[in-house]
Amino acid sequence: MTGRIFQGKDLTASQTIEADVCIIGSGCGGATLAKQLSAAGRSVVILERGGYYTEADFDQDELNMNGKLSSNRSLKSSADGGTLLLSGNNVGGASVHYWADTYRTPDDRLAHWAQRYGLTGHGLAELAPAWTELDGVLNVHRADEDHHNRMNQLLRAGAQKLGWAGSAVPQARRGCVKSGHCMQGCLYAAKQSQLVTHIPQAVALGARLYADVQARTLQFQTGQQDKVQSLLCDVMDRATNRPSGKQLTVQAQQFVVAAGGYYSAPFLIANGLQSRLPALGQHFGMNPTAWAFGLYDEDIVLWRNIPAAFGVEEFRLARFDAAKKYTEGGYLLMANQVQPGSLAGTMPLLGDEIGEWMGQAKRIGSTIIWLDDYEEELGTIGVGSDGSPKVEYPYGPVTQAMLRDSLKKQVTMLFATGAKKVLLGSAQRILLDKPGDLSAIDSIAITAGGLFMAAPHPFGGCRMGTDPKTSVVGMNHRVHGFSNLFVADPSVFPTGPSVDPSFTIMAFSYVAAKHMLAA
Ligand SMILES: Cc1cc2nc3c(=O)[nH]c(=O)nc-3n(C[C@H](O)[C@H](O)[C@H](O)COP(=O)(O)OP(=O)(O)OC[C@H]3O[C@@H](n4cnc5c(N)ncnc54)[C@H](O)[C@@H]3O)c2cc1C
Ligand code: SF4
Repeated sequence: MTGRIFQGKDLTASQTIEADVCIIGSGCGGATLAKQLSAAGRSVVILERGGYYTEADFDQDELNMNGKLSSNRSLKSSADGGTLLLSGNNVGGASVHYWADTYRTPDDRLAHWAQRYGLTGHGLAELAPAWTELDGVLNVHRADEDHHNRMNQLLRAGAQKLGWAGSAVPQARRGCVKSGHCMQGCLYAAKQSQLVTHIPQAVALGARLYADVQARTLQFQTGQQDKVQSLLCDVMDRATNRPSGKQLTVQAQQFVVAAGGYYSAPFLIANGLQSRLPALGQHFGMNPTAWAFGLYDEDIVLWRNIPAAFGVEEFRLARFDAAKKYTEGGYLLMANQVQPGSLAGTMPLLGDEIGEWMGQAKRIGSTIIWLDDYEEELGTIGVGSDGSPKVEYPYGPVTQAMLRDSLKKQVTMLFATGAKKVLLGSAQRILLDKPGDLSAIDSIAITAGGLFMAAPHPFGGCRMGTDPKTSVVGMNHRVHGFSNLFVADPSVFPTGPSVDPSFTIMAFSYVAAKHMLAA
């Protein structure tokens, strides 16, 4: 039986529906799981709070598309206001505006998860077969020469010159025409997001997806507080982003929270689970990122072709000396991609500088890093007074040192590749006109408003483990103490995967599907 995608406007009255499995969230975690369970014959309902947008809606306008595809128009920040929390709010989740870098979790990180956090069933033996299959589904391949824009070519040349290890980025694309609008939704259906892969595949296998439907309240079987019976949801009015007054109730045998790193733990907290699971909302990280800009004597055109074709892997793992003092690294270094409007908005320029830089916008280059959160300085995620996620992230001393080191390496890279001036995204507006003295970076305040930061890769809050006092889900992705409630997204990661997370999330969903089918 073929399934269907329903939108809020199709739901003219409140109603109750039934399924074997109800999945909250249609991103990499939820959509992959839905495809796997549908293929095994389960009747699946996927709930997605955001709208259903397709190629017909992708107008390549950065402001329009940010409003449609990004949670809170990318303006939601951590509790201190310092870090922008970036995630998806549409069918396909963040994958619709992601960059499609598709790294397998490095062996060293899988080994660390097994050794320090006791993870079982999530090693190479279990994940590699999933990745092999997913390679085909998403057409994962290393970026070829044609898909290296000038910034990526410079990054590769710079890495060679500086002796920094790096390689072409594995990425999920098919027939990419190099438009540079990955973050606005791919008009050409070339980026292999969940919208064009697992969602249509799951629907073809019978899954029903409800867009504009926000999961709200878990309802438990009378006298059985360990078993979810149904889920009460609000049908959202897309124009106002508020509940329309209509409700959808889903009755199912199994329920899965796959609402993404910024929403899964808060959903469970809002449903009262924290009193039984003290680790809920703890151990939260988000790969905070800081970036740098360079002004070149040649055209760079940051906003064309794919964002990340070459990645510097030299500093992926943080290094510590014999006394366990941090020395350098702990991040992936990449070319940045921003459309002209966002470029103007993220550079801290004043007065004549605005004309000087934006007047030659094509010549602006930029780099960015994904910080591998230091596991001793993770934060928490909860629910704010307005009901939205509340992220408290400490930016501890090692994290600060990592960010400063990443800025120094970015400046070094930009000058090594011919930048004439380098500008950092700090409130002090550090503008350097020659390589060499980087001591100004040591005084950057890594606080709210001190350094502009964004965080596109949330994880944790529902950490996987065996002890209900220190973790939230078991190795089978089932929430401790509940017989039919599961989590399938990066909320379960014990730490960040040390590379972009989407491929780890998808492979974990393969493992979750196996356990749910066996339950
Ligand atoms: C700009 C950007 C670029 C990125 N680039 C890359 C990259 O190149 N490579 C990579 O690996 N990763 C990248 N990422 C990260 C990656 O996209 C995400 O980690 C991944 O897509 C997350 O998948 P998910 O299923 O955990 O969550 P999401 O994709 O966030 O999906 C969760 C979905 O649940 C919905 N939801 C939340 N609460 C509810 C509720 N109560 N009821 C119903 N629905 C709900 C949300 O609207 C959302 O659509 C990028 C992220 C961003 C923001
Ligand atoms: S660069 Fe390629 S993948 Fe990205 S939006 Fe354009 S065609 Fe799609």
